[in-house]
Amino acid sequence: MTEKMLKFVGIKKETPIKIDSESRISNFHEIYKEFIENKASEQASRCSQCGTPFCQVHCPLHNNIPDWLKLTAEGRLEEAYRLSSSTNSMPEVCGSICPQDRLCEGNCVIEQSGHGTVTIGAVEKYITNTAWNNGWVETIKPEKELSESVAIIGAGPAGLAAAEQLRQKGYQITIYDRYDRAGGLLIYGIPNFKLDKSSVQRRTKLYQDSGIKFIQNFEVGKDSTLEELKEKHDAILIATGVYKAREIDVPGKDLKNVFPAMQFLTASNRKGLGDKVSSFDNGTLNAEGKDVVVIGGGDTAMDCVRTAIRQKAKSVSCLYRRDKKNMPGSEREVQNAEEEGVKFIWLSSPKEFLGKDKVEKVIYDKMRLGEPDSSGRQSPKIIQGAQKDLPADLVIKALGFDPEDIPNLFSEPKLEVSKWGTIKTDLKTMRTNIRGVFAAGDIVRGASLVVWAIRDGRDAAKEIHKYLKVKREQSSVQAA
Ligand SMILES: Cc1cc2nc3c(=O)[nH]c(=O)nc-3n(C[C@H](O)[C@H](O)[C@H](O)COP(=O)(O)OP(=O)(O)OC[C@H]3O[C@@H](n4cnc5c(N)ncnc54)[C@H](O)[C@@H]3O)c2cc1C
Ligand code: SF4
Repeated sequence: MTEKMLKFVGIKKETPIKIDSESRISNFHEIYKEFIENKASEQASRCSQCGTPFCQVHCPLHNNIPDWLKLTAEGRLEEAYRLSSSTNSMPEVCGSICPQDRLCEGNCVIEQSGHGTVTIGAVEKYITNTAWNNGWVETIKPEKELSESVAIIGAGPAGLAAAEQLRQKGYQITIYDRYDRAGGLLIYGIPNFKLDKSSVQRRTKLYQDSGIKFIQNFEVGKDSTLEELKEKHDAILIATGVYKAREIDVPGKDLKNVFPAMQFLTASNRKGLGDKVSSFDNGTLNAEGKDVVVIGGGDTAMDCVRTAIRQKAKSVSCLYRRDKKNMPGSEREVQNAEEEGVKFIWLSSPKEFLGKDKVEKVIYDKMRLGEPDSSGRQSPKIIQGAQKDLPADLVIKALGFDPEDIPNLFSEPKLEVSKWGTIKTDLKTMRTNIRGVFAAGDIVRGASLVVWAIRDGRDAAKEIHKYLKVKREQSSVQAA
């Protein structure tokens, strides 16, 4: 929780937060509940209606924040919900996990004037949760059914947002996903202490009840080619996300108990969802009582360290090769992790993992920041002879993700990709170079944010609608 939020709920900054995970988690929910019930309209009324809504400009969905804050302040919550959900397919999700400090809240005029931002995300979540509790969130009832069908590959936020928008227009939608549950990284990536999974599941259920067909455990590339899907559907959206974990090429990388971040987070999320997870139950992917070393400085690394703390690790260290100022992760997340007891070892890069069979130690080089590279960021350089080590029973690699080789996987070698392997699309129309095939979300942008995936999914839906409308009109002209 940020310093501002702590202050807002009446806790002084210097109040130490217990590292004990269970009490901290329940503390969080109690504090948050109190905040939500008593303060949402008070917070909303802090909006100065400044007339220069930088918050709205910096929200990727351009949510009409000032107006729904005003409605909330006036107690007109149903109207606030209708307005907020007109631009956002999952406001309660974004309200929970957007890095607001970099988006809407970071650009709030009150924040800029040094008086602490209006907690926009918390209010957005409150409005939508109130709507769910009051039955204002309804199944989609298209004005008329259309005969065309659209296949969406990937049930992450990009695919779900596109499905929602296209179903509203009356299209027949089938979502294919290789996991057993819909939601993509909302379900198996983002930890459940940040995002309540039931909020994702109730959305998926709503979409099912609205006539969207979900085919889970279906991997395009294994269970069908792209061409086979094209024969069945009138348009296709690829929204498969990015899943190829970046590797660390150091001696000992193949020792036991060195895992990629997604394996660790998925096991933890599955456990939270009530699945039987043998690799967790037998202790392999459970951090309890262990010295845990997480490598990386992004939000995924922060999720790993904070998950390990909640699993009662003996110690949790995070190695990052640049300094705190240059960390890619959200400042808020780093602060949360520090408050929870994570030890950050800045300017450090792993050199070797040592151990007989299982990892026992991480040897790391100390680094310094050199000249800026082509991206303008100072590149880290090894300080010769300045090695250190850390005890480790569990090492988690969180160095980011690249796209899988989609053209090969989908048996569609002509599908154009960028030099990074992301799918190339026309920026305006979101079309790939293959007729009738569109793409959206992380598979186009590279690893990004949920709110951008939702934006892309909604934009792709508009473009698919335009494409199918023209196709329909052309075939009726030909038939006449
Ligand atoms: C650990 C972690 C934490 C994160 N935390 C945050 C956060 O706090 N806030 C935030 O805004 N963003 C966060 N992100 C980023 C965010 O989750 C992604 O940007 C977002 O989920 C991308 O949405 P998407 O729909 O493009 O892809 P995904 O969510 O990845 O969904 C893609 C879906 O496609 C399916 N799929 C893939 N290949 C195939 C195939 N061949 N056949 C069928 N289905 C397939 C997958 O099973 C998956 O369900 C986080 C990411 C990670 C990894
Ligand atoms: S969607 Fe995200 S950026 Fe936009 S208003 Fe909500 S929390 Fe802020």
